[in-house]
Amino acid sequence: MDFLSLAQKYKTPLYVYDLDRIKKQFLSFKNAFSGRKNLICYALKANSNLSVIHTLAKLESGADCVSIGEVRRAILAGVKKYRIIFSGVGKSDEEIYEALKLDILFLNVESSGELERIETIAKSLGKKARISIRVNPNIDAKTHPYISTGLHQNKFGVDKETALKLYLYAKKSSFLEPIGIHFHIGSQLSDLAPIAMSVEKIAEFARSLLALKIDLKFFDVGGGIGIAYDNENTIALYDYAQAILGALKGLDFTIICEPGRYIVGESGYLVTKVLYEKHTQEKRFVIVDGAMNDLMRPALYGARHRIKVYRQNHPQSDTQNQIPDTPMQAESLCDVVGPICESGDYLAKDVMLPPLRAGDLIVFENAGAYGFSMSSNYNTRKRAAEVGMEAGKDRLLKHRENFADMVNDELEILYGDTNGSD
Ligand SMILES: *Cc1c(COP(=O)(O)O)cnc(C)c1O
Repeated sequence: MDFLSLAQKYKTPLYVYDLDRIKKQFLSFKNAFSGRKNLICYALKANSNLSVIHTLAKLESGADCVSIGEVRRAILAGVKKYRIIFSGVGKSDEEIYEALKLDILFLNVESSGELERIETIAKSLGKKARISIRVNPNIDAKTHPYISTGLHQNKFGVDKETALKLYLYAKKSSFLEPIGIHFHIGSQLSDLAPIAMSVEKIAEFARSLLALKIDLKFFDVGGGIGIAYDNENTIALYDYAQAILGALKGLDFTIICEPGRYIVGESGYLVTKVLYEKHTQEKRFVIVDGAMNDLMRPALYGARHRIKVYRQNHPQSDTQNQIPDTPMQAESLCDVVGPICESGDYLAKDVMLPPLRAGDLIVFENAGAYGFSMSSNYNTRKRAAEVGMEAGKDRLLKHRENFADMVNDELEILYGDTNGSD
């Protein structure tokens, strides 16, 4: 990919998504389950750009949403309502109301309190709410503690005993229709064993529910399959699918998967521009124009993204941009940091990079998932532009924010007028 031209055309920091690769990832995922009735519900929170969702919707992807905002995005991007599911521990009354009115496939229920709210709201609408219950299998996913969700100490789902009570309650209710069972033990999973164990455990539980005449149709195995950011182990898609298909032998369920990172992670790049090199007595810093507000994963999870350097063609005679600090010839150890006023604001730590000059590019790979979607305006920084590459052509998917986007609402409240133009 010609990042130098893209950076010139769209400026930096910039997210670039390889849409062809996203399609390929989705289709290979879907194919792995082709022997069975399946519904792949792309987890929107990984990357919720409408064009990305639309690209997947055209391949008949469903959507796994964790807020009503994501449900609306999915619909706007062309995902069919009957392929949309709504998960999350803290759905508000307004969100439940809207989801039921929209008539999406089902809501994944995460507590008895939530089930009661759904029943009440369904009753007020004169509807029968389709639900699935998220069961917490109490299995250690062996991933980063912030993205591990399958242990009883985590806030997610309910234990088997509670789930049984909720299913029996829902079966009797005139306003609830339990049609699915769900689990999701964490994200960036690199070990198949915890997933395989969870599927078996939940499949056994599902059998006991069927025996109680609870008419489940969907078995939702969540998402979480990881990708290689650095040198991590990854789970082979084939093994993943086989473990799930094997555990569900003899059960006539539609399998639902909720992959996010696997679909979009490897297809995204964060393009940043070198502003300065800075050498302290102890360390070399490369300061770029992207920061933790653009890509939060390093600061939040200590994540490591592979990086590549693209140098501008500096003419030999050009001494203007020469870094005045100690001249270096070879690669040396450095941290790549952003302009934000936090010591946690780094994008890469202890990496070997050649000497760089202002204008050179540092590109962070595997930034397609939990990159832009986690970005913020911290330090009153504009969120980056997003660009898609398809069949060799680039196109803008989202404008870089401008100053007015950030302040107009406050300006209007303060002065009754908006003039925060860029
Ligand atoms: C975050 C999440 C996913 C997607 O996780 P990935 O690791 O990106 O595949 C799927 N399901 C639920 C319920 C989630 O919270």
